[in-house]
Amino acid sequence: MIAIHENKVKAVQAIFSKDIKNQREKAIEKLNVLNNKIIDISDKAYLESVILLFEENTDILIWDSDKINRSKDILGNVPMITKVYRNRISKQVKSPIKNAILTALGYKLLRSSFYPKYFKEVGIKSCVYCNSQLSITAVKSKNVYSAKFDVDHYHSKDDYPFLSINLFNLYPACSSCNRAKSNDVIEFELYTKDESKTVKSNYNFKLSPYAKSKYLTTRESKDIDFTFNEPNYNLVGAKKFNDVFHIKGIYETQDDLIEELIIKSQIYNKSYLKTLKSNFTKLNLHPELFKRTLVGNYTEDKDIHKRPMSKLVMDIAKDLNLI
Ligand SMILES: [Zn+2]
Repeated sequence: MIAIHENKVKAVQAIFSKDIKNQREKAIEKLNVLNNKIIDISDKAYLESVILLFEENTDILIWDSDKINRSKDILGNVPMITKVYRNRISKQVKSPIKNAILTALGYKLLRSSFYPKYFKEVGIKSCVYCNSQLSITAVKSKNVYSAKFDVDHYHSKDDYPFLSINLFNLYPACSSCNRAKSNDVIEFELYTKDESKTVKSNYNFKLSPYAKSKYLTTRESKDIDFTFNEPNYNLVGAKKFNDVFHIKGIYETQDDLIEELIIKSQIYNKSYLKTLKSNFTKLNLHPELFKRTLVGNYTEDKDIHKRPMSKLVMDIAKDLNLI
């Protein structure tokens, strides 16, 4: 729900430059091994153009959004094959070379070996679309559970397998948003060069008028009405976040969080807050940390990615004049 400045991400990539360099070299090695096994002419032509792209571009894994957009269509489409199903219906599907390339690039392996430490450094722990869940899933393999980072590919890995491990093409997302988005078009860029987009989110939750007084009368959290507001989209065919990720539906199940904020806004009135601050000056709390402790989550838009539910909590707490 908010973008991160590309320069901040580039600084993190510099820390991991050795890992990233190894990833590219390993990819080239594995793609060449794959090439020795491929016979089909169109598969081979596509694969060799991918190999060339990796060999000629030492920075291919850290291409920024401009470079990705420029290079996206230079390879042409993944070759198609005709698949005949049991009911004799035939369909045009992507050649298995697509999956073979994904395996060679090692995307699945990087999900548990590299992305958790990389995104921790970037500062993203929650889903960049819904902000209601972590972007980490526990996956069982050979009877052992490991934490895997879920990422959505901004440019689909089905259409652009060569971009599957490009770091600016990876959007940490919870598994339900990842599934929900599929190939839907949305207008949201996680990485930006525009500073203003990294300070203020253009999405927001808002308490409906009289929601607080209604709740204080009925004491029923189901009576707490709020809205989720989205910006106007310019991209043709862009779907609303609410339609793709069911944001309102997800957050309606969390109305007890808003209930607690309403109660806090009753208890922690201005004079009590002033007393608290003066009583605990020895703690030397930064004002943001004081507010975070008060509402139990981050309170500034720039920190949305740090914790699930932070966007809802900060917006409603501001509505209630709690922070
Ligand atoms: Zn999500």
